[in-house]
Amino acid sequence: MGYTYDPENIFARILRGEIPNSTVYETEHTLAFRDINPQAPVHVLVIPKGPYVSYDHFAQEASEAEIVDFTRALGKICEMEGVEAHGPGCRFISNAGHDGVQEVPHLHVHILGGRPLGRMLS
Ligand code: 5GP
Repeated sequence: MGYTYDPENIFARILRGEIPNSTVYETEHTLAFRDINPQAPVHVLVIPKGPYVSYDHFAQEASEAEIVDFTRALGKICEMEGVEAHGPGCRFISNAGHDGVQEVPHLHVHILGGRPLGRMLS
């Protein structure tokens, strides 16, 4: 399966510094910043810096260094934001593709927390 990456998507523009963002964490391969329309007191978007549309694209084409960096960043940001699982906890959401209603076609994980989030599996 070939993946097409749109270099004009909003997160690509954030990565190029064309649009300002509120960065909370950055490494060689990963950037995390606050969602512009937060749905909870903690609402951070975590993205790989590479041009990946979705997690399946990332899993196929990213290097092990990128995958390790991204995965570690998710846990690190939870701790930094005080929403780690052995504390109050949080939720990761990654909307993918049409049925997942993904608006921005660059892989991202939402980290939501800071309030009870309720049950959500629909
Ligand atoms: P999706 O629906 O693709 O999973 O989520 C995209 C998210 O990106 C939404 O929660 C939306 O609020 C956020 N977003 C869209 N444009 C911008 C922007 O320019 N800056 C930031 N920080 N977040 C954005």
